[in-house]
Amino acid sequence: MALFRIFANGLLMDMANITFLNIILAGTGLISLLFFVYAAIISKLEGERRASIVFLWIAIAIGFVFPSIVFINHPAINVISVILMVAIASLVLVYIIPNRAKIGLSKIVTIGKIDERDIMFSRNELESDSDNYKDYYQSNPQRKSVDDKIKDNPGLLNANSGNYDKIMFSSSRASFFTIDALKSKVNGDVCASETKVNPADITCYIKKWAKKLGALDVGITELKDYHIYSHRGRKGNYGKKVELNHKYAIAFTVEMDMYAVRSGPLAPIVMESAQQYLESGAIAVQLAEFIRQLGYPARAHIDGNYEVVCPLVAKDAGLGEIGRMGLLMTPNLGPRVRIAVVTTDLPLNVDKPTNEPSIIDFCTTCKKCAINCPSNAISYNDREEINGVVRWQINQESCFDFWTKSGTDCGRCMSVCPYSHPDNLLHNIVRFGIKNSSIFGRLAVYFDDAIYGKNPTVKNPADWMNIG
Ligand code: SF4
Ligand code: SF4
Repeated sequence: MALFRIFANGLLMDMANITFLNIILAGTGLISLLFFVYAAIISKLEGERRASIVFLWIAIAIGFVFPSIVFINHPAINVISVILMVAIASLVLVYIIPNRAKIGLSKIVTIGKIDERDIMFSRNELESDSDNYKDYYQSNPQRKSVDDKIKDNPGLLNANSGNYDKIMFSSSRASFFTIDALKSKVNGDVCASETKVNPADITCYIKKWAKKLGALDVGITELKDYHIYSHRGRKGNYGKKVELNHKYAIAFTVEMDMYAVRSGPLAPIVMESAQQYLESGAIAVQLAEFIRQLGYPARAHIDGNYEVVCPLVAKDAGLGEIGRMGLLMTPNLGPRVRIAVVTTDLPLNVDKPTNEPSIIDFCTTCKKCAINCPSNAISYNDREEINGVVRWQINQESCFDFWTKSGTDCGRCMSVCPYSHPDNLLHNIVRFGIKNSSIFGRLAVYFDDAIYGKNPTVKNPADWMNIG
């Protein structure tokens, strides 16, 4: 009541004393109030309870503070008005004035070919005491004890793993079963007659069609040596030298469901990963067959049947940067995507590599994935030179050790990453500031921690999933 009287008196008695500054403050207050109410509603719709409450409290605070400043005529209040205006003006200037720290970009040109036999999936598939096992650890004795220890874990999708869920693990197995059916379709006969195409037109057609089929973003690069595995490492093709001479690579991303990702490392994350490997694999197989129908060789690269390193291809095709967690960071969904690739000789127009310093700059300050990684696999340090490339590299043994105990592919790093927020106006306002200004990017790291928490909670699976 007392507060109401102050407002009423202020309103009636001091209308004449409202200054130009107060009018600006009133306008700023109203815009801010509307923005934070909008942010609270969007966060509620996104299932971000904590963020919704934080935004709501900010809106309530603005609802009280700004009218008080405008209508209560007191010297102390005037001082507060000036301080508030300076603070708001500074934030707006930091947001809109371009300001970019100099960041060395992660050029990959000097790296040699990667051998698929070195990745954890391949090493984990080696049967103890088989010839391949003996050969591999004779050449890589430093990896033997850690790999043997990981082999003793229950394993991915195993009934004895920590996050076992019969229903969701069975759903994941069903997706991988369907992917297996696609594996024999990645290559095929090329139509004998070659259809003449205009590179610009066919590039546009493929990009639009891939998006219609479900791709989020599509990019094209010339296929480089370092994109191609030197040797295959997975079952059925182990040790085969990769002979891939295509000129171009089409890389595309598909979105992973935000709610499923937020439940990582619980079972929905592996269900969603498997589903998106399937979606991206089906699009890649379809695109490759389409190109072969036009009379040009084409091969799809899908889960478990790759001859290329998809994140490196995607980076050169302009789809994103390689961030702290070692995954492709796309500008609008960060790491919350899966990638597939089609390589071909069809003449295409290529895109420019991403070379987006703001992502690297943000990762340098952020470290949220490292803080939340349950296996300490992600480095807190700045990028280091590895094989001639300045980059971050995760400890793949620690990460895979956790996966094979959890039974899922974890995804906690993907879940907490500030870039993983949905692609909508609220988050794109922040993304613009991060891209535009290094200083704003640093502030955004603190805002994200304050709003979503430094250690965001692992969300429960949706009710309909929870029947296991
Ligand atoms: S969580 Fe932060 S540091 Fe990690 S990848 Fe995302 S932006 Fe980069
Ligand atoms: S997937 Fe999990 S264990 Fe692996 S790096 Fe990310 S957070 Fe760490």
